[in-house]
Amino acid sequence: MAAAKPIAKPVDSSRADFSAQLIAWQRSHGRHTLPWQNTRDPYRVWLSEIMLQQTQVATVLGYYERFLARFPDVRALAAATLDDVFALWSGLGYYSRARNLHACARRVVADHGGAFPSTSEALMTLPGIGRSTSAAIAAFCFGERVAILDGNVKRVLTRVLAFEGDLAEGAQERALWAAATELLPHKGIEPYTQGLMDLGATVCLARSPSCLLCPVQSHCAAASAGSQERYPIKTRKLKRSAREHVWLWLIWQGRVWLIQRPDKGVWAGLWSLPEFASTLAFDEASSVWPGSGDALPSFTHVLTHLDWTLHPVRWNLPARTTQAQIDRLVAAWPTGRWFDQNEALAAGLPAPLRKLLLGSPG
Ligand code: SF4
Repeated sequence: MAAAKPIAKPVDSSRADFSAQLIAWQRSHGRHTLPWQNTRDPYRVWLSEIMLQQTQVATVLGYYERFLARFPDVRALAAATLDDVFALWSGLGYYSRARNLHACARRVVADHGGAFPSTSEALMTLPGIGRSTSAAIAAFCFGERVAILDGNVKRVLTRVLAFEGDLAEGAQERALWAAATELLPHKGIEPYTQGLMDLGATVCLARSPSCLLCPVQSHCAAASAGSQERYPIKTRKLKRSAREHVWLWLIWQGRVWLIQRPDKGVWAGLWSLPEFASTLAFDEASSVWPGSGDALPSFTHVLTHLDWTLHPVRWNLPARTTQAQIDRLVAAWPTGRWFDQNEALAAGLPAPLRKLLLGSPG
């Protein structure tokens, strides 16, 4: 086991000064017009927090508005089907978020009478709400004095503190949480929390942070040492892998056969195309099918841990194919059914499949 690294240093100047400068900067230079700001409605704040995990603000904006238009409150979301939620989430990625969102809405309605709990501790017991998300909701909606530590905030605080701990280690991550909690101001938790988020998103960027514009530069140990890009330290890198499949776009009488993916793994729960592990496996299976196929351009879909190369084949079954032949053919994919084009486009589809059906794969 690696030797314990020094845990966070205290900020050299006073903590009150650090938070006061951050709050003043947030008020004059921070973001104030995002659609999930200027509200204390936990539903709206929660929705934005979940959508913003691993996703840029610019991407989230349109999804957020469409989602609220369709599901204006937690009861409307709880009453929806998971398919409806996936359909609106389609293209935003990390689909377990959509599944948890739906499960969480149902729990809020079933167990809390449709009102989100008002403490970070209780919020954390709900599906898909981790420590940082629960803290953001509790701080913004209920004024709770509690620390957040999302990716951007980790970057800011590890730099300010020149935090040498390796965040791949649980003990070091806990030490950073403790340091973040110690820094909390006694007043102004909302602008302080928003200020940390804004600083991470607009000034303290991963590459080339704009330290000259930073309101807490005089407190920042990494800036004074010129070692900003050393932080945060996290040694364990995700291993990337690659895989390939033939992707079958099976068409009969103008409809496409889609299968629902398993509840776990890539594109969990979404509607997608049947896959074959190799061209050989596909050629063997399709040798007895009526009709013929066209190979479409292959493309690689890049996921967090995986480069997935797909080789789509559009296979047209003749209109005269009998029901018995069809039943035999699709028996291999029991979670599937036929969709017409409009129905398919309204379903929860992975982004590459939506593009493929619209005529632009990749
Ligand atoms: Fe980040 Fe630079 Fe500000 Fe330090 S001084 S918090 S490195 S932007």
